[in-house]
Amino acid sequence: MLVSAAEMLKKAKAGHYAVGQFNINNLEWTKAALLTAEECKSPIILGVSEGAGKYMCGFKTVADMVKAMMEELKITVPVALHLDHGTYDGCYKCIEAGFSSIMFDGSHYPIDENVAKTKELVEVCREKGISLEAEVGSIGGEEDGVVGMGECADPKECKMVADLGVDFLAAGIGNIHGKYPANWQGLSFETLDAIQQLTGAMPLVLHGGSNNSDEEIAEAVKIGINKINISSDIKVAYYEKMREVLKDESLREPNIIQPSCIAAMQKVVEHKLELFRTTGKAALYGRRS
Ligand SMILES: [Zn+2]
Repeated sequence: MLVSAAEMLKKAKAGHYAVGQFNINNLEWTKAALLTAEECKSPIILGVSEGAGKYMCGFKTVADMVKAMMEELKITVPVALHLDHGTYDGCYKCIEAGFSSIMFDGSHYPIDENVAKTKELVEVCREKGISLEAEVGSIGGEEDGVVGMGECADPKECKMVADLGVDFLAAGIGNIHGKYPANWQGLSFETLDAIQQLTGAMPLVLHGGSNNSDEEIAEAVKIGINKINISSDIKVAYYEKMREVLKDESLREPNIIQPSCIAAMQKVVEHKLELFRTTGKAALYGRRS
């Protein structure tokens, strides 16, 4: 059974660690994430972007695949299925499809409209026991062209959105999605600290966590990050292994080609779970069946 990510992140806040959100793109990625979480006895959040949802034939297909796979693989650790950077319509589609967590990315709306839509979704999610992530400021990325520094959110705006009743909050602290440019200046721990001071118990989210060094991640977790989104590092592991495997042109069967690619992704997930200090934390949830 899928669970909301709210309890996971409350526990992470109290225990000073971070839960990983690993984005999935197909069956192999889902299998890699679920198997590793189970092996590491770690709670996990599976992230699905709207593009990935479309690619996987819609959110219902994704939700049903994840639930069926959890049953087949006998997954006992807490798993949340989360919409990543959801549009207003996308949020409702995922709620309908059976997701247990959503992110409403209203960062492109004027602040008043972002607040109104977020408030509405807070009510809907609360009623259904689904967790809700909001974003303050805008977290840039490759599609925005080369940037020297990701945006830093205004701590007062963070506090205002946190007070709307969302379960966790993504705030820009200089992070961006995808690969960091050569002149990137690093995460702003000063901004993170200021946001943390104002938002208190609200778990904070680091997007684009793939390209941060292990030291940066450790420091961010120490200050108050409780959810870290990983996508690029898994992509790289997958495609590098796939290219290597396909050099052997005699290989034809997916069930021969894919397992080593899944293993390569599992290595990344395992390392991140260790780094976020979430390994073994499923034990905090009591016995599940
Ligand atoms: Zn993101």
